[in-house]
Amino acid sequence: MSSTIATLLRTTQLERLDAEILLAEVLGVTRSYLYTWPEKVLSSMAYQQFQQFTQRRFRGEPIAYITGRKGFWTLELEVTPATLIPRPETELLVEQALQRMTSQQVQSVADLGTGSGAIALSIATENPHSQLTATDQNPQTIQIAARNAIRLKIPNVQFLVCDWLSAFHPASFDMIVSNPPYIKVGDLHLQQLTYEPQQALVSGKTGLNAINLLVANAKYYLKAGGWLLLEHGYEQATAVQQHFQHSGYEQITTYLDLAGLPRVTVGQCLACPIN
Ligand code: GLN
Repeated sequence: MSSTIATLLRTTQLERLDAEILLAEVLGVTRSYLYTWPEKVLSSMAYQQFQQFTQRRFRGEPIAYITGRKGFWTLELEVTPATLIPRPETELLVEQALQRMTSQQVQSVADLGTGSGAIALSIATENPHSQLTATDQNPQTIQIAARNAIRLKIPNVQFLVCDWLSAFHPASFDMIVSNPPYIKVGDLHLQQLTYEPQQALVSGKTGLNAINLLVANAKYYLKAGGWLLLEHGYEQATAVQQHFQHSGYEQITTYLDLAGLPRVTVGQCLACPIN
């Protein structure tokens, strides 16, 4: 069956934006092309591919996994079901990290649980003199992150498969950043996130297991004056702040995301406990 771009967009059951993104992907064109050439007839292969994409979308698969791409900061990242899809609110973490770096000085930064590499690659591209270390416990995930670095030609990130901080020497970093899993086991929100890797989303009964581990341990791996920056759930700010306090961090501050929700908490380690 043949069809023009205009008819397809008129008759599709998908939401308009989803349909445009998927059709542009099938045709290998931009969305504005669809408006410039509405009378263009699709090949039967393109038509079939669009129908397949449509079915996947109807089953609830996120657009980013269908196209294999997601925009984050200034970068276009490859994503697969082995990586969380980068969220816009995580750009707040990047912003706060950049504010704590001066561009000329070489700084050593760890991004723990990097997924697609979104945070590490954004910081690295803004600060070519910095040295980023991006970790993930899943070898498949770290492969995607490393592939993103190569495709985007960002040389100052090294990638490592490891469990949080286990691979590092004490006092190694000027800054440690992470968007760890922070959703509670059984949280209803997870029903909308079934396509994404659960180990990147879920962290124990309170959702705070990974965050607690990072707050308790990061200080040993920070140099004196180093910063820890963590993304967390919007209801977790008080608990996270308290844990930062009990663990001896200073200058503790929580920042709001674009929706006005507390999303990132930071703290500074003025004296590294092992020095
Ligand atoms: N912000 C994501 C969500 O709620 C969760 C990401 C995470 O657990 N780190 O959809």
